[in-house]
Amino acid sequence: MSVIDLRRLTGVARQQALRIVLIGPPGAGKGTQAATLKERYGLAHVSTGDMLREEVRRQSPLGSQARALMAAGKLVPDALILDMMAQRLQQPDVSRGFLLDGFPRSRAQGEALVAMLAAQKQPLHTVVQLDLQDEEIVRRLSLRRSCPACGRVYHLHSNPPTLHGLCDADGSALVHREDDNEVTIRTRLSVFHEQTEPVIEFFRSIGLLRRVDASLPIDHVEHLVERLIQGALTKSSPLRTSRRLAVSKYRSLGRSLRG
Ligand code: ADP
Ligand code: AMP
Repeated sequence: MSVIDLRRLTGVARQQALRIVLIGPPGAGKGTQAATLKERYGLAHVSTGDMLREEVRRQSPLGSQARALMAAGKLVPDALILDMMAQRLQQPDVSRGFLLDGFPRSRAQGEALVAMLAAQKQPLHTVVQLDLQDEEIVRRLSLRRSCPACGRVYHLHSNPPTLHGLCDADGSALVHREDDNEVTIRTRLSVFHEQTEPVIEFFRSIGLLRRVDASLPIDHVEHLVERLIQGALTKSSPLRTSRRLAVSKYRSLGRSLRG
C-alpha cells in the first residue's frame, strides 16, 4: 500500500467513528497500542482497569466493591462492569469513536456489548487480539511501571522513561502497580484463560476477530494493528460482511434490551 493510500485511509478514519476492541491477556500491550491509536484516530481510550482504579482512588461505592478483587487479580462482577460501561458509552467523547481496552473480559460482557452497540446501530469495526505467551507476560508485567496521572505505561528494559522513574508526558512519579507481582500476575493469567478466552472465541465466531503477534517490538505491533484497522475500513474487507452478520445476529437481542 502506498503512502498516499495510507494517508487517504487515515483521513477516512478521522472522519469515521471507529469502534475497536483491543483484547488479550494482561501485559500483552493493549494500553501501549491504545495510546498511539488514540492520538492517530482521535478516539476515546476506554480502559476499564483505569476507570476502576480511579473509583478505588475516590473510594466510591464501586471502588470499595472492586478494590479487593483487583488486588487479588480476580474479575469485578459483570453486572458492576456493565453498569459502569453503559454509562461510559453514553459520554459525548465516544461518539467520535472509541477503543476498548480491558473490556469485555467475559463472554457475558462481550455479548452484552455487541447487543448494546447493535441496538444503537453502532457496531464494532473490529476486535484486535494481541496474542502473547504467559512467560513473556510475567516478564513484561514484573517490570512495568505506570503513570498514576495519565495512565501511560513503561517497561524498565524495553520501553523506559527518558528520566528514571518519571513519566515522559507529565513528569509524575511512576508506580509499580500492586497487582503487577508474580503471584497476582499468575492469578490474572488463569482468569484470562478461563474467563476471557471464551469471549475471544465469541468474537471469532461472529467474524470480528483479527490476531496480532504481540511478542514483536512495539512499533512492529503498531504497524500490524494499523493494517488491520485499515483493512476493516476498506469496502472489500470481509470484516464488513461479518459485521453485518454480527449485527443481524444480535439485532433481536438489542431490540429486547431497548424495549
Ligand atoms: P496491557 O495494557 O495489555 O496490560 P501494557 O500496554 O501495559 O499491557 O504493556 C505491558 C508491559 O509491556 C509494559 O511495561 C509495556 O511497556 C511493555 N510492552 C508493551 N508492548 C510491548 C512490546 N511489543 N514489546 C515489549 N514490551 C512491550
Ligand atoms: P487492567 O488494568 O486491565 O489490567 O485491569 C486491572 C483489574 O481491574 C483486573 O485484574 C480486574 O480485577 C479489574 N477489571 C478491569 N477490567 C475488567 C472487566 N472488564 N471485567 C472485570 N474486571 C475488570
